[in-house]
Amino acid sequence: MACINNNFTKIPENYLFSEIAHRVAEYKASHADASIISLGIGDVTRPLCPSVIQALHQAVDEMADEKTFRGYGPEQGYKFLIEKIIKHDYNSRGISLDTDEVFISDGAKSDLGNIGDLFDFSNLVAVTDPVYPVYVDSNVMAGRAGIMGKNGRWSNIVYLPCSSENKFVPALPKLVPDIIYLCYPNNPTGTTLTKSELKVWVDYAREHGVLILFDSAYEAFITEPDVPHSIYEIDGAKDVAIEFRSFSKTAGFTGLRCGYTVVPKTVTASTSDGSHIALNRLWNRRQCTKFNGTAYIVQRAAEAVYSEQGKKEIKQNIDYYLTNAKIIRDGLSYAGMKLYGGVNAPYIWAKTPNNIDSWTFFDQILTECNVVITPGVGFGPQGEGYIRMTAFGNRDNCVEAVKRIAKIF
Ligand code: PLP
Repeated sequence: MACINNNFTKIPENYLFSEIAHRVAEYKASHADASIISLGIGDVTRPLCPSVIQALHQAVDEMADEKTFRGYGPEQGYKFLIEKIIKHDYNSRGISLDTDEVFISDGAKSDLGNIGDLFDFSNLVAVTDPVYPVYVDSNVMAGRAGIMGKNGRWSNIVYLPCSSENKFVPALPKLVPDIIYLCYPNNPTGTTLTKSELKVWVDYAREHGVLILFDSAYEAFITEPDVPHSIYEIDGAKDVAIEFRSFSKTAGFTGLRCGYTVVPKTVTASTSDGSHIALNRLWNRRQCTKFNGTAYIVQRAAEAVYSEQGKKEIKQNIDYYLTNAKIIRDGLSYAGMKLYGGVNAPYIWAKTPNNIDSWTFFDQILTECNVVITPGVGFGPQGEGYIRMTAFGNRDNCVEAVKRIAKIF
């Protein structure tokens, strides 16, 4: 009989979003006329921009013609897209990369989950708290997390608390981990690190031989000059960091699926006999074995994001979401809420009033305002007493939701 990976039995159900759906459904059952607005969604709502649609149509036509049809592509992605990424996302910021250091994928979540294949189960992993749950759950699956304690924390994971007290800038851990996940601009807090704050982490990683897994899925939302778009803007990061990017929020590809991961050839990890191996080689091997490439038409669509017209069009959508974020920030801070993020990110993180717990505040906002938000505690114990609101909805709903919440303050 097949025997399962027992680590899967340790993972709790994704309680957060199912519990939200359950509470909303229960409320709707007794309030059929309620017009409920969601500020909880982490998915985009603006359609794909015209340049992307045009590239998709063109690529579909190529697939219909024997002369231009494409079958299996390179597992690492097509050069036409990799070259555009390097030129526009990296060279433009003074970073050089070789084409074999960029790997195209079907999105950042897959790569963030799969990267763990490269590492032994004995690695000590550190995450910020609150955190995007994929980092933690994928390590639980791999057997690296230990056991879940009563405090909601895994025994073998190092947590880096982020709250208003430390301005959401985590302190360096005393117990040195092997791998650190950093996500900036951050989901869920919407906060960022400045260049000098990120440099502290790169220097720490270099000093202690730590690997940084840097998730910059939201870099396109950065508006402030001192916030790094890429960890490679920091000197020395190319020796210690892998970077994950996504077209999901940047260009509305949540349904189309495309992202990429940068694994510089200078990033190494040690073997059991103490020698060092380039992670680029291992990731390439992993991808060639388990992944057959991102769809050609999707890669052509992603390429269109880098045309002059494509850049203008995606910027309009990003500006739309950032304006939503500003409406939420301005409206609710005027009403008296303490808010964070939303300037360089589509997420606004807010303190609950009078220190009430996240779920009680969720219920209050649902029943009194008919607005759905996300309880912060769902992203980690340190998220208790906070909520997350997203700017991905449509403008009218966003304005109406803010009015309704402001009224109860
Ligand atoms: N990283 C973070 C921090 C995210 O919030 C998300 C999606 O919500 C992802 C990665 C996943 O992105 P993708 O759609 O490319 O898989």
